Amino acid sequence: MAPLKTSTIGFPRIGPNRELKKALESHWKGDSSLDQLLEVSKTVERDAWSAQDDAGVDLIGLDGTLYDQILDFIFYLGLVPERFQGLKGYELYFAMARGAPGATALDMSKFFDTNYHQLVPELSSSSTPKADFTYLIEKVKRGQEVVGKAKAVPIVIGPITLVSTAKATKLDVGAVVSSLVPEYVQLLKQLKELGVPEVQVHEPILVAPEGPELQKVFESTFAEFSKAGVPINLVTYFDDVGETYPWVVKLPVAAVSLDFLGVPGAASGCATAQLIAEHGFPSDKRLGAGVIDGRSIWKDDGSATAFVSALLAKGVTNVTVQTSASLQLVPYDKQAEKQLPSEVHSRLSFAVQKLEEMVTVAKEASASSSKVPLESALKTPGDSQAGLDKGLFTRSKPYAERRDSQIKTPAFPTTTIGSFPQTPEIRRARLQFKKGQLSEAEYERHVNEYMEFAIREQEAMGMDVLVHGEPERTDMVEYFGVKLDGFCFTENGWVQSYGSRYVRPPIIHADISRPAAMTVKEFAYAQKLTKKPVKGMLTGPVTILNWSFPRKDITRRTQAFQLGLALRGEVADLEKAGCAVIQVDEPALREGLPLKKERWNSYLDWAVQAFRLATVVAAPTTQIVTHLCYSEFADILQAIDGLDADVLTIENSRSGDEMVVALAKYGYGRDLGAGVYDVHSPVVPSVEFMTNKLRGFLKTGILDKNAEHIWVNPDCGLKTREWQQVLPALKNMISAAKSLRAEA
Ligand code: GLN
Ligand code: ZN
Repeated sequence: MAPLKTSTIGFPRIGPNRELKKALESHWKGDSSLDQLLEVSKTVERDAWSAQDDAGVDLIGLDGTLYDQILDFIFYLGLVPERFQGLKGYELYFAMARGAPGATALDMSKFFDTNYHQLVPELSSSSTPKADFTYLIEKVKRGQEVVGKAKAVPIVIGPITLVSTAKATKLDVGAVVSSLVPEYVQLLKQLKELGVPEVQVHEPILVAPEGPELQKVFESTFAEFSKAGVPINLVTYFDDVGETYPWVVKLPVAAVSLDFLGVPGAASGCATAQLIAEHGFPSDKRLGAGVIDGRSIWKDDGSATAFVSALLAKGVTNVTVQTSASLQLVPYDKQAEKQLPSEVHSRLSFAVQKLEEMVTVAKEASASSSKVPLESALKTPGDSQAGLDKGLFTRSKPYAERRDSQIKTPAFPTTTIGSFPQTPEIRRARLQFKKGQLSEAEYERHVNEYMEFAIREQEAMGMDVLVHGEPERTDMVEYFGVKLDGFCFTENGWVQSYGSRYVRPPIIHADISRPAAMTVKEFAYAQKLTKKPVKGMLTGPVTILNWSFPRKDITRRTQAFQLGLALRGEVADLEKAGCAVIQVDEPALREGLPLKKERWNSYLDWAVQAFRLATVVAAPTTQIVTHLCYSEFADILQAIDGLDADVLTIENSRSGDEMVVALAKYGYGRDLGAGVYDVHSPVVPSVEFMTNKLRGFLKTGILDKNAEHIWVNPDCGLKTREWQQVLPALKNMISAAKSLRAEA
């Protein structure tokens, strides 16, 4: 049998060395022209497409964007909110991305369950498109020049996903989609004229909870699309399509692309293989088999070949080998990594390596005679609780019994979330220390001086619970990753978070453990300077996991428990060093929620357990604080209560107290610190503003309890601000707390 064909459905768009970020930032600063920016962006595109061509990929999805692929389609379709009227072309494009004078940017939200952020379309039932696909058509022509007409496949974000992810109240998805369909059909016809072999229409919404409700919309939309006469590959990813499978494979398209893998390290994963085993796959369509893991940085473990051979054995022979999701979620090329331990490096597979794997699997699967049935082709990750007994998850006394034995504060106690400004001096010192230009002792002196300043200022303004300010940390996950065994770091493993913001997540490559205390030295130094309590400051197990590249050979749950145990040791050590208040941040708790609601409970269950594993070792007299950044968690309040923290601090000021209202309604009975001002703004909030904010909280009924349990704090850490903003803001915050005390 001839080798199977291969197809990509997305690739890093940032360039092998972050070329696009640099070009965007220089253009935004006014240091380079639009033409210069576009030149770089075309080179980045061309290099990405050539890399896929060179690897021998047969059908190349023409990925590439200046900012975000969803924004591209908002822009092409002319779905422009009114506040941007008058703007045109790239000026309009970047205004929607980043805002313009008098016009705030479009909202961002997580792209399904990934750490990538899309821009959110703003639609109403009367939205009317004014489409112009010139930019896309030009891009496809460029792609055809680079890889040839036979290989160049346009990528189109489907209308149903676009509309379903929009910000709108009471939107009739079907009606808005049908207003867009004629524009899409026009586009498909134009693409047909260009002689493309097929068009990928990306509709990941099919794997989301609303997928099943969208049957009619899908059927009518794709019936219209099929009239354009160009073969369509309906592409889905991030999970299985679930109960929509039987009708999805009947849609009038040439190919359906399915994700066989879902989230790396999920204990009960993606059911695509089961769906095919149970229902078969129609012989008149091609199956785009997403068997190479597009969300994991690890080499294939043999599942890919096993999947494909099993498909062939089942008689599903019209198959292309693909990645399970766009490779935009993994770094570009592992060959750029020169310092990783070789036993890690040899197991890695970044985007360029995934291409090679696809081509190899396509060759080998057709020759292999492996007899693994489809349903068991996926290697399930090992899961162990490592003999953890129940007692390890429960504090010795419940909140109601332990709370009174903890630190004493006035009513409306004041505190902050942890970090203070990362000044140019402290950044410079850290960099020099890293480069070996500064000795450890000198670096330590910088850190100590910073802490002395921070403590002195907090004491002077009358803060109740102090922090050391986190001068020794660049990043709340990286800092712990460096100190823990089992993590390693790349030099160039960037992935796009949004627009020109890229992150370089740590890699978990082995069992996690804590060789030595990680935060005790700084805590002890800061605490010696004051009689007021200084908070110990840790990043929680779930956040560390969710912002890292996890292992695939063991479950995420097991990794979270390993992290929980490591942090547990740190909590105990801080306590031994005299720490009476320990904050364990979990801003990414919600980020790990699976797409499908039926999997929420199992995730929340282990996530909460991991947090408890880390914290319940604390004596009843030690106060455990947690911090969650702004996210609507009204639907996971039970899990938040389940953390069994003494104090919950949340980001709140950009919302109209919704979280406080939800907590009050739930009957949340523990200490609460709802943020009284937005840390993202350089504006110094007034005393009056924050007093009103606090009065607002009290009205929600959250306080039919002790005013000593209502904390006054900013929304989040202050590391991106400057001292000139932070000091007056905190002084005002303390004045606001004092004026409430006077009323109490
Ligand atoms: N303690 C961290 C800080 O203040 C919390 C950061 C966060 O919530 N993202 O920076
Ligand atoms: Zn935060």
